[in-house]
Amino acid sequence: MRSLFFLGLASIAALTACGSGETGSGGGGGKGGSGGSTCGGGPCGGGGGDGGTAPTTGQIPGKVKRYDYAFDMDALSADTKLTVDVAAPGGDCVDFESRQPTTGDVTWNSATATTAITDMGVLHACGQGLAEGPLEVRAPTAFPKKKFFGLDVGFSQKPNMNGGAFTYLVSWVGGCDQFAPCDNDPGTLSEFHFDIHHAPGTTVLCSGKLTPGTDNTRCDIEGTLAPTYSAVGWAADAQWKKKPFMTANGVDWVFYEVPGGTLASSLDVTVMSDFFGWMTDLLGPFPYGDELRFAGGPTAWLGFEHPANIVLLEDLDKIATDYADAMTHVTMHETTHQWAGDRSTIATAADFVWKEATAEYLPYVFEDEQLPPDVGAASLEYWDGISLQSQHYPRPMEEPTPPVQTFYGDVYGPGPMVLYVQLEGLIGRDKVLAGIQAFLKDAGARSVDDLRKAMEAVSGENLQPYFDAWVFGVGVPEWPTMKVTTSQVGSEVTVTVTQENASGKLYGCVVEVEVQTANDKVTATIDFGIDPQSAIASAKVTLADPVLSTVLDPRHRLVAREKAAPAAPPKPRPVWIF
Ligand SMILES: [Zn+2]
Repeated sequence: MRSLFFLGLASIAALTACGSGETGSGGGGGKGGSGGSTCGGGPCGGGGGDGGTAPTTGQIPGKVKRYDYAFDMDALSADTKLTVDVAAPGGDCVDFESRQPTTGDVTWNSATATTAITDMGVLHACGQGLAEGPLEVRAPTAFPKKKFFGLDVGFSQKPNMNGGAFTYLVSWVGGCDQFAPCDNDPGTLSEFHFDIHHAPGTTVLCSGKLTPGTDNTRCDIEGTLAPTYSAVGWAADAQWKKKPFMTANGVDWVFYEVPGGTLASSLDVTVMSDFFGWMTDLLGPFPYGDELRFAGGPTAWLGFEHPANIVLLEDLDKIATDYADAMTHVTMHETTHQWAGDRSTIATAADFVWKEATAEYLPYVFEDEQLPPDVGAASLEYWDGISLQSQHYPRPMEEPTPPVQTFYGDVYGPGPMVLYVQLEGLIGRDKVLAGIQAFLKDAGARSVDDLRKAMEAVSGENLQPYFDAWVFGVGVPEWPTMKVTTSQVGSEVTVTVTQENASGKLYGCVVEVEVQTANDKVTATIDFGIDPQSAIASAKVTLADPVLSTVLDPRHRLVAREKAAPAAPPKPRPVWIF
């Protein structure tokens, strides 16, 4: 079952590289050459510039610039080298998130670290102080064969559809510390190099540029960087057969499936080629080299967007979902993530919504403009259908942010609806697309508020009232309640919509109402604008016969409840996550 509701991740809060919560007494003992002073809580030395007489001490602030991982698939071990760009005034200790104890020598710029303690999810390492420049900390760890949240997060081995063994290592948001020390902040982009040691004959696929070998597979992400949540992931299967799919826009699409797999053969090359061309026109060249791999496996998610290395559910082409064609839709979704979620990442876990909303919306625009009409319509119907059951605002504002696995499933419907589809009515699709293009133009970490600013820049509108009503909030979203009435004089029908919201808040939106007679139907478009000052708005349509009924939002372009609600609440629907 791929509906969600999970529990458990202890904390996805991003620690700084220096353990901001630590006290000065934590882990500082035994530092060689520092005169016995302990500086766990922040810079306390700063003597690096004093002609070299005073040692540089203190916690080193800074992000991990580069990871060099050596994984052993059978030994379940990792040897990790983390490179930090140390900025002045430098220091002599650094912290990394790590849920696994080290299993051997920790080194500090090639010398044995004077301190290496793993406690409360943090590896605290110290060594020779340095004022600035690169610091390389290397630590060996062993990781368990264990999954988290009922998802693929963690390290797992499962039977594939052909009876073979599928192996998968997945970090996800805040999860790279399950295997080895890292900075699990989703808003940091880094360079990655992977060496994965494996049994001869096993095919291993990892993020970035792939260099296969007999018993060692290498992958490199450099130039265009990536976040740990998607980059730290690899998969293996001895039964995979490599099959070219197409070359488009200078990129080779390649599928890896076990015998019996039909993912690639279910996909239309022309549609994918058109989609990829459309995407690269909008967002620029494919960010991760000249090969995009798709691998099938028995995964919990429908798909996962590892850079240049997408993993798809092995029977995605055969399962029933709410999408018109899940295989095509999910393939486009994960491809979109290469720009929206990989090259540009979420600033914080609370900003999760924009990457899923973008990876849903752009495939929808392609579906709407280039595929048969029922395809895009199905996506809208599904998103609208699950939106009313969401338990969190698209950008939850609780402090601290709830664990990501408790709210991320609430973004798949409301995300594309509220951030993009509803804005089409208010500023136009061309502006929405231009806003996304500007938002994702350069690599970096982006917040939902950055998206608001991008949409404001292209539209010239103040969208703060819209975002405050629909996007940012605490608790369960209210969503507006609309009452529809009509009055008719001759053939002129006035359709009036009243927002009856318990909070008294008014929601900027355009509301479509289908008005039906015995012989005809027509859609009235009622525009509340971006920042409504009245709860009532109306529009006129022409109908010769008496009005019999109305349908609120017949095309599913608005998240709203109707005042004349059905007696029984609608049945909860499964949410597909990918
Ligand atoms: Zn996604």
